[in-house]
Amino acid sequence: MAPIIFRKNKSMSSPDTPKIPADLLPRDGRFGSGPSKIRAEQVAALAADASTYLGTSHRQATVRNKVGEVRDGLAALFSLPEGYEVLLGNGGTTCFWDAATFHLIAEQSQHLSFGEFSSKFASAAKAAPHLKDPSIITSDVGTHPVAVADESVDLYAFTHNETSTGVMMPIERPKGASGLVAVDATSGAGGLPVDPTQFDCYYFAPQKSFSSDGGLWLALCSPSAIERIETLASSGRWTPAFFDLKIALDNSRLNQTYNTPALATIHLLASQIKWMNDNGGLAFSSGRSRQSAEILYTWAEASDFATPFVRKPSERSSVVGTIDFHEDIDANQIAKILRANGVVDTDPYRKLGRNQLRVAMFPSVDPEDVASLCASINWIVGNL
Ligand SMILES: *Cc1c(COP(=O)(O)O)cnc(C)c1O
Repeated sequence: MAPIIFRKNKSMSSPDTPKIPADLLPRDGRFGSGPSKIRAEQVAALAADASTYLGTSHRQATVRNKVGEVRDGLAALFSLPEGYEVLLGNGGTTCFWDAATFHLIAEQSQHLSFGEFSSKFASAAKAAPHLKDPSIITSDVGTHPVAVADESVDLYAFTHNETSTGVMMPIERPKGASGLVAVDATSGAGGLPVDPTQFDCYYFAPQKSFSSDGGLWLALCSPSAIERIETLASSGRWTPAFFDLKIALDNSRLNQTYNTPALATIHLLASQIKWMNDNGGLAFSSGRSRQSAEILYTWAEASDFATPFVRKPSERSSVVGTIDFHEDIDANQIAKILRANGVVDTDPYRKLGRNQLRVAMFPSVDPEDVASLCASINWIVGNL
């Protein structure tokens, strides 16, 4: 079979768009925070299996074995302790938030809200008529708040990496707390180290560190989280079937989803998990992101026109870097010139409204390409 070659996006450049010298450009120009870069090998593996896998029943062995590979592969990647289970379902992380309001939060949750994504789960819990108003702890953008143990809270909602601001937080159970710890790890999972004994539910979607497409949610659940799902599902609380985590649990145990999943997404995801495990597991994949992050932040700190947006080095994300630019330089224009040269999706999170670039450094992104991106930005600023 012919090798699959990724062509850089056809440039929209007019004769007066600056043309970055080819030897400075990253070999792969995809730096988006989701959907994110998919490695050519994943696409080739899907193409190789296409005629026996794509277009076949998700209730039969071929696809169910692939789902089994995903579930076992994640258990290995995260070194899940005995009794933890991998659940999955359709609808992505946004759907999982709604499901959690039915079958993970018993009465009241506490949310650390420090950006667009973490605030959304808090809003979903607040809007649920069957729950008490959640306790919501906020902090300034570019930082993260700290949880406070509270007897009336039965679920603590954390976000491993706030994708909108580029802030990461350590995942630790709040001291003295008895509630479940649920972590939105949509952009953090696979790219950041984590200790599974510190969470009860670590949930994510495949379109970020796992280099696949969106539309699926995955949740690593502790025995306490499974017990919570079973208790709430038998409590008589009305729950739409699509948000019913007991239905998701029962189907997951059979390596199935409640309704039809996207088969290509599962295949690309399985390839990525295998790549991570074959190369040394989470230490390898999170190490790649940490290496990229060191390159990006070291460059920004040394630069006289760029600076890391997140002040505290320990809170600067290894998977999504946010870089502020001096007011004399228009970051939007840099993003446009990069795009015209085939280097895409470095635009900042729109609602943050800063003179900023945002760079995804998920494990698939080659650290050398991050170095090339920095060199390309230097070239643009020097030639503006
Ligand atoms: C991307 C993202 C989401 C949304 O995921 P969907 O699968 O699109 O619903 C939620 N939380 C975080 C932290 C994200 O990065």
